[in-house]
Amino acid sequence: MFEPIVLHAHNPGPWTGEGNNTFLIVGRGGHAALIDAGQGHPEHLSLIGSELRTRRARLEQVLVTHGHTDHASGAPRLLDAFPQACFRKLPWEDFDRRFGLAWQALRDEEAVDVGGHTLIAIHTPGHAPDHLAFWHEPSGTLFVGDLLMARGSVVIHASRGGDLREYLASLERVRALRPRLLLPAHGPAIEDPQRVLSRVIEHRHVRETQVLAALAAGFSTVQAIAESIYDGLDPALMPAAHETVRAHLDKLRREGRAEVDADQWSSR
Ligand SMILES: [Zn+2]
Repeated sequence: MFEPIVLHAHNPGPWTGEGNNTFLIVGRGGHAALIDAGQGHPEHLSLIGSELRTRRARLEQVLVTHGHTDHASGAPRLLDAFPQACFRKLPWEDFDRRFGLAWQALRDEEAVDVGGHTLIAIHTPGHAPDHLAFWHEPSGTLFVGDLLMARGSVVIHASRGGDLREYLASLERVRALRPRLLLPAHGPAIEDPQRVLSRVIEHRHVRETQVLAALAAGFSTVQAIAESIYDGLDPALMPAAHETVRAHLDKLRREGRAEVDADQWSSR
């Protein structure tokens, strides 16, 4: 049986919503892996410790979906608590260094064994360049990290390696796997993956139409475009809205549908 255990990272906040889900997988012989490191919150660490004790398991691998703080920054504290564990992610050179530990590189389509459970790393850039999803084919379970959520949409950090074209390609790649269950890092499990994938892809097309309409109406800066689209948004979330608008503008520019001159955008 493949039964990932959800362990909450205890890190609620404006960027993380209710906080992150991490997933403990225990295979035969007590071999265990954790998907995502959280932020090193003491309650998260004690949750992991007590699950391992209950199942007489040993944490040997921590598989990180991407290098954003809420997924990776707990790694040093986890290493202190579980010194036998190795920490694995797709490399993101300059970014990875800030965590001050030796990451083991995971590559696209690399198989990871967790006591008889095989997980395949699936490179799914867009939200972040180093983003991996983890695919358990026998159960049709895909750990999607920040690729999508049951409700709402994830931020494409255009100024930090986010890329909307890559993001849409990653969603199509994931759709082609025909998963039966998606386990995101934020929010509830997704038991109707095809419907949610279609919704997320459709949502991006709606946003793109809004960005084009804002350009046509003469809004020319990222801020003005964001304010015209995200009217009434919680000010704490406005920086994220700017990132998303920038990601859409970059996509349109590369498709020859928008141009920029000294931070002034226009359609073409
Ligand atoms: Zn992220």
